[in-house]
Amino acid sequence: MSVVTSDIEKAAEVLRAGGLVALPTETVYGLGADAEDPAAVGRIFQVKGRPPTHPLIIHIGGADQLDEWVEEVPATARLLAGRFWPGPLTLVLRRGRRVPLEATGGLETVAVRVPDHPVALALLAAFGGGITAPSANRFGSVSPTTADHVRAELGEGVDFVLDGGPCGVGVESTIVDVTGEAPSILRPGGVTREEIEAVLGRPVALPSTSHVRVPGQHPSHYAPRARVVLVEPEKVIAEAEHAQALGQQVGVLLPPAFADAPVKAHAVVTVPASTTAYARGLYGYLRELDRQGCDLIVASLPAEEGLGLAIANRLRRAAGPRLSP
Ligand code: AMP
Ligand code: MG
Repeated sequence: MSVVTSDIEKAAEVLRAGGLVALPTETVYGLGADAEDPAAVGRIFQVKGRPPTHPLIIHIGGADQLDEWVEEVPATARLLAGRFWPGPLTLVLRRGRRVPLEATGGLETVAVRVPDHPVALALLAAFGGGITAPSANRFGSVSPTTADHVRAELGEGVDFVLDGGPCGVGVESTIVDVTGEAPSILRPGGVTREEIEAVLGRPVALPSTSHVRVPGQHPSHYAPRARVVLVEPEKVIAEAEHAQALGQQVGVLLPPAFADAPVKAHAVVTVPASTTAYARGLYGYLRELDRQGCDLIVASLPAEEGLGLAIANRLRRAAGPRLSP
């Protein structure tokens, strides 16, 4: 898993040649391309099977480069970037001329962040430009948090994989729209709502869970192959055992309060009590339950505060109606 200087140089070379590089970030692995090369950006959509209207995040090497990518930087954006970059916070701003419409799904806004990972930062420094990188998985499926996840899912679609070990945060960045009067959270993620509100000194609106607000998003996302069912924590065991008795292969994300309880199911993962550890492990658990051949995963939502908000968001969407059966 160790990345050497020659790997970084090779990866930068692949990007310059219009190729795709999978790179570790602190959130999840990204599928990176030169943000200013429309053909390379087009390949990302092709490899992911992602609709071209679904905008990407541009990764840059430092907060000091933000002005190069956006039309203007409001004071709120400056404040958030200064406090949380490098880190799991993405800012949506008005698109600078340098950004091709292919990278924004045709929008006049652009999403930008500085990742907090030594390998990603080394690659950005060696490459010099911006790297547009969605999560390195097929559209709609579980995001990869190891280089092996990327290889297993995208295989030959990626020209070069930088293996930086498992991701530390484990869920995607928090996306904050700072183009309007009041900043709002478009997607909860690695920086908590509470942290953002503390810096801004005001409450920040969240996306409604009942309808789709972020352009290009679909009800089902972050989804394993197995169907996901959410129930109250105290009903997880009964629900799982009922489905297992009916002949399903049931996987369980067991709430920490029931850690030592026996469960008659196909596979059981006890969820860590710490939301930091849960976020870090979440996508790996879903992949593992798929690997063990589960056709149903029974889970419950954690308390929706701190990182629990992002975990609950991903579980809800994993349980959402599927695009295709
Ligand atoms: P991913 O592809 O998993 O990295 O997710 C990228 C996220 O950023 C998606 O939820 C996009 O909808 C969101 N995004 C990117 N650009 C914009 C934008 N200009 N406005 C709103 N959301 C955006
Ligand atoms: Mg994604």
